[in-house]
Amino acid sequence: MSAQKIPATLIPGDGIGPEIMEAALAALEAVGAPFEWEEMPAGMGALKSEGDPLPGKTLDSIRRTRLALKGPLETPVGGGFRSINVRLREEFKLYANIRPARTLIPGGRYDNIDLIVCRENLEGLYMGYEHFIPIEGDPHAVAMSTGVNTRQGARHILEYAFDHAIALGRKKVTVVHKANIMKALTGIFLETAEQMFEERYKGKIQFEQVIVDACCMKLVMNPWQFDVLVTTNLFGDILSDLTAGLVGGLGMAPGSNIGADAAIFEAVHGSAPDIAGRGIANPTALVLAAALMLDHVKQQDKGDRIRQAVSDTLNVDNVRTGDLGGKASTREYTEALVARIRNNG
Ligand code: NAD
Repeated sequence: MSAQKIPATLIPGDGIGPEIMEAALAALEAVGAPFEWEEMPAGMGALKSEGDPLPGKTLDSIRRTRLALKGPLETPVGGGFRSINVRLREEFKLYANIRPARTLIPGGRYDNIDLIVCRENLEGLYMGYEHFIPIEGDPHAVAMSTGVNTRQGARHILEYAFDHAIALGRKKVTVVHKANIMKALTGIFLETAEQMFEERYKGKIQFEQVIVDACCMKLVMNPWQFDVLVTTNLFGDILSDLTAGLVGGLGMAPGSNIGADAAIFEAVHGSAPDIAGRGIANPTALVLAAALMLDHVKQQDKGDRIRQAVSDTLNVDNVRTGDLGGKASTREYTEALVARIRNNG
C-alpha cells in the first residue's frame, strides 16, 4: 500500500535555485518522501514569464497546500518591487524563522556546534518602516526608522521557541535582546519571555536572557554554552548568519518559516548570481531544508536519513563542492548523496 501523498508547492527560484533544487528533490525521492509537488514560478524568472515576481497562482498554490520548498528568490532592483520573501512572510503570517546550525564537517574552527536560532519574522526594526526628513536642500538630512513589536507577536515566536525546544529535548532557551537601551522595543520581548517562562515553562526547560552584543561575543568565544536562542527580527537576522558562519558558512544553513497559514522551507543563502549556471553550487543548505520539511510533516526518520547521508557524503566519502574546498560539481555531490541514502538504507 502506498503511503499517503502530501500536496506541497515547489518553487525552484532564481540563480542557482534550479540547480540546488534538483539535489533536494533527488534526496527526497531517494528517502521516499510523500510530497506531491505543484511546481510554481516566483522571482526574476516569474517576472519574465508572468509579469509578476510573485504571481497569484503561486500564492494560490501555497494557500492550498500550506507547505512549500523554495529556492532562493532574487528581488528585482527598482521598479517598486518589495522583497518577495518579506511578502511571503506577511501573506502567510510566517512569524517564526527557525535556523538550526550544526557542525557537519568536524575538524574546523568549531566542532560539535548544535544551535537553533528562532527569529521573530514579522515585526521590529527589520520591517523597514523608514523615511528621510529633508533640511535646507539636503533631502537625506535626517533618516528615521520605526520599529514595532507587539505583545502578541512576541508571544507567538516565544511559544514556538519554547515548545519546539522542549519537543526536541533541548536543555535551554536563551532570549536575546537589547532591553538595557531599547527599553520599549526589545524590553517588551524580554518581559514577555520572562512572564511566559514563569507561567508555562518553568521546570520544563532552563531559561536565561542575554544582551545581543554580549551574545555575539559569547557565540564566538564559547558557542557551546548556548542551545536554543530566541530573538527579535533584526537581531535574529544577524545572529543566524553568525551561527551559520560557525558551521561552515551559508552553503550549509537551512531555514524554515513557520506560520499560522503555511510553512515554507528554504536555504538561508541567496541566488548566488556569481556562480549560477556553472553547476558548482553547494546544495547542502536546501537539502537540509528539505529534511526540515520532513520533520515538519512528522516524518523525522526520513529527515534523519537525509542528514546522516549528508554527513557521510561530506566526511566518509569526502565528496565536497568548491566552497568547502572540494572539487565535486553539484551533480557529482548529488549522485554521491543519493547513493549514500540508498546504501545507508
Ligand atoms: P548570496 O547568498 O546569493 O551569495 C553570497 C556569496 O555566497 C556569493 O559569493 C555566492 O556565490 C556564495 N554562495 C551562496 N550560496 C552558495 C551555495 N549554495 N554554494 C556555493 N556558494 C554559495 O547573497 P547575495 O549575493 O547578497 O544575494 C544574491 C541575490 O539573492 C539577491 O537578489 C538577494 O536579494 C537574493 N537573496 C535571496 C534570499 C532568499 O530567497 N531567501 C536570501 C538572501 C538573498
